[in-house]
Amino acid sequence: MNIFRHLVRSLFPDQRQHLPSQSSQGPLRLFRCPLCGQPQLLQCPGFGRHSPASTPARHGDSAHCSQCGVHLTQVYCSICGQVTYLTPEILDDPLGSKQTSHEHALQQIALFSEIYKRTHKVTSKATFGLADESVVTELKEILADCKRLLQELAPRYPACNPETVRYRIADLTSWIGYAYESLGNSQEAVKYLEQAALSGQDRKEFAGIQSGGSAIYAGCG
Ligand SMILES: [Zn+2]
Ligand SMILES: [Zn+2]
Repeated sequence: MNIFRHLVRSLFPDQRQHLPSQSSQGPLRLFRCPLCGQPQLLQCPGFGRHSPASTPARHGDSAHCSQCGVHLTQVYCSICGQVTYLTPEILDDPLGSKQTSHEHALQQIALFSEIYKRTHKVTSKATFGLADESVVTELKEILADCKRLLQELAPRYPACNPETVRYRIADLTSWIGYAYESLGNSQEAVKYLEQAALSGQDRKEFAGIQSGGSAIYAGCG
């Protein structure tokens, strides 16, 4: 099975199975960050009483840890750091499945994967010193697709992490700079490399966080 199809299936389990609406009791295992859209385990940090564990459970309109009994009011995203309050709305739909279209998310993840593959193909040409005008043209096309994807991502529960997409944009911009450099067009090279440096400033740090991301997350990067 296609890995991305599989990924989306795991993110958006068949919505028919979600009806009738979720129980107001029971374990809460997975959660999707509304800001970066990335799924992760919902854990109780332990508060010095136990090591972090997937112990949170739904109890009416709130969540508590089934091990230490602490009432959990919020959750931190391990990827982007966003704080999400565990309101009844979030508890009813911890994966945000009701707020996103399965098909649209699938398309966006597939497009981002395609962008990654195309970039790899073109940049390996550039790496071997085979850069010509066609490399620049193709990189610019990929960059335009990537920017369009970023604009079209849902503001809540995006299919791909917007930070990862922005990182890719900065990366593509610098590759255009390198390609111009090898073509001897230093004026355009400087323009693109400066632009990449500006947009990529805090993206580098983000790349560090990325490597610590979950396996599910890696599928979208
Ligand atoms: Zn606990
Ligand atoms: Zn997040």
